[in-house]
Amino acid sequence: MLDINKTIDTCSICREEFTSIYVEAKPGYKIYVCDNCLEAAKFNFIWICMNCGKVYIRPKSLVIKRISSYELKRAYVLCEDLQIIQGIDMCIACDPAGMLSYMKPEDMGMEC
Ligand SMILES: [Zn+2]
Ligand SMILES: [Zn+2]
Repeated sequence: MLDINKTIDTCSICREEFTSIYVEAKPGYKIYVCDNCLEAAKFNFIWICMNCGKVYIRPKSLVIKRISSYELKRAYVLCEDLQIIQGIDMCIACDPAGMLSYMKPEDMGMEC
C-alpha cells in the first residue's frame, strides 16, 4: 500500500534520506520510506514502533527460519517476496510485557 505524497519528509527508517513515498501504517500514521530502505525491505522485514519510533530490521530468511508456528511460518513465507514494512503499536523497548502477548520477540527475530 504505497502512496505518493506531495510533501517530502525524512525517511522514517534510516532518518537520512528525504522521500515522498510513505506507507500508512494506520490512519494518520505515515511511515516514510526512501528508495534505499524500500530496496532493503525486499530482503528484510522492517518493523517500526509507532510509539517510540524505534526501527527493527531483520533478514527475512532468518526470521522465517526461527518461526516455530507452522501457520505463522506459512504466512511469512507467502509474503517473503513482498516488501514488508509494518507499524507496531509497541516495541519490546516500550513495553516488554505487552510485546510478549502480542507477538513473541523471538518470532520477530528480536534480541531482548
Ligand atoms: Zn531510508
Ligand atoms: Zn517502541
